[in-house]
Amino acid sequence: MNDSSLDLSRRKFLKGATAASVTGLLAPGDVAKAADPENQATASQGATASQAAAGGKFIGIQVGAVSFVDEGVDKVLDLFQEKARVNALMLAVFTYGRGIAGRQLPGQPLPDHGAQEYDSNTFHGGCYAAVHTQYYPDTIFKDFRAPDLGDFDLLGAVVPKAKSRRMRSYCWFEDVYNPRLLANFEKVAEVDVYGRRTGQACLNHPELRRFLAALVEDWVKSYDVDGIMWGSERQGPLNNAIGSHHGRFTGRGRITCFCEHCIEKGRERGVSVERAREGFIELDQFVRAAWAGERPSDGTFVTFWRILLNHPEIVAWEKLWTDSQQEIYGLIYGTAKGINNRVQVGWHIWHNNSFSPFYRAEQDYWKLRQTSDFLKVVSYNNCGGPRLAEYIRNIHSTVFRDASPEECLALHYRILGYEEKSSLEQLPTAGLSADYVARETKRALAGVRDSEMRLANLAAAGESLKELTIT
Ligand SMILES: [Zn+2]
Repeated sequence: MNDSSLDLSRRKFLKGATAASVTGLLAPGDVAKAADPENQATASQGATASQAAAGGKFIGIQVGAVSFVDEGVDKVLDLFQEKARVNALMLAVFTYGRGIAGRQLPGQPLPDHGAQEYDSNTFHGGCYAAVHTQYYPDTIFKDFRAPDLGDFDLLGAVVPKAKSRRMRSYCWFEDVYNPRLLANFEKVAEVDVYGRRTGQACLNHPELRRFLAALVEDWVKSYDVDGIMWGSERQGPLNNAIGSHHGRFTGRGRITCFCEHCIEKGRERGVSVERAREGFIELDQFVRAAWAGERPSDGTFVTFWRILLNHPEIVAWEKLWTDSQQEIYGLIYGTAKGINNRVQVGWHIWHNNSFSPFYRAEQDYWKLRQTSDFLKVVSYNNCGGPRLAEYIRNIHSTVFRDASPEECLALHYRILGYEEKSSLEQLPTAGLSADYVARETKRALAGVRDSEMRLANLAAAGESLKELTIT
């Protein structure tokens, strides 16, 4: 595992086995600091013997195959149990990203254990479990077994040993591909507003969907796993265009997807594809002008809002993208549950959820719970500092340019509900407070538990009744 995956100040929560219960995931040292009494109240629900031994908490850790190869399966499991009372493993089974499946990233200090070198020259990515070809007869990708660790089968080597220790095993996979290393990737690649193929997969492509379902079927049928977790750290074209994220942003957002499948889906929704395209190109030009230092006479925010008013198709296309991502949640959930209803299925929710109100609006916990047994909402407070600072610089460079960067940060503290004190300059080294973790956990708990009759739910119930009456 890399240094950050051992960082026990990270806290996560999992909604438990039943739809109504939400279990807080806290490392033992953090329990006393847990600000949410509801964590304590619900933690025992559905607890296994191992969870009971660990004080009723679901204590999970993210770990990639390379850690087991470097240090030995038993040794790593010993370490987890002895040092941190871990009772659940989030095993990075499929990804082309080094963030969860590689060793420590270059430039970061090496951990105090394991191989004392980076793997930037040897990391490949792909599937770190054996590929059972019967589940992939007609999928677009054939050669996706990760070769960098020989024939080490992550699930085959770890799941039985974890089970004998009463530790749960979750298959964690990511929406990250390497177009250079994955034959046929270009066929499922997203297409941007200018017609260029990108390095990201289109979530509406039927071949991609078939592949994801095949992975899930393979793991659930071939191994005695306890759960599945998928992570997609991506968002739609509106948020990308305005730099509403904490990654590197140079004023050139990825405005996708305009592939044939997305265009068809847009048409089905009654959205004018040409109007959407025109709107995004205008938005892109607005961002480029902002980066060139031009200030519209009405100011940047007013001009941004005017573009949305003139092209509401921009928002419709953003919604189409987010709905497509959530359809993948439904696909994975349905596939896993259809094979084994006891397998828990849930999602890694991107850290951007903590920084961007635009992205946060799209992560409706109540809606997400319809197709999930748990949510793992990223709320790392240490790296939250530099990430929030980067997000603020990005979003300030586009729609909030009228204000100062500090004013932009103050506004975000206020509207996101944080009472943080750090200035933009202090944030990268100070990080966010532990209180931020408690607040985000509470907000998530409230979101999934919100049992009030919302008007949207009432309307949905009405529609279902109508359908029943008609048929
Ligand atoms: Zn598409």
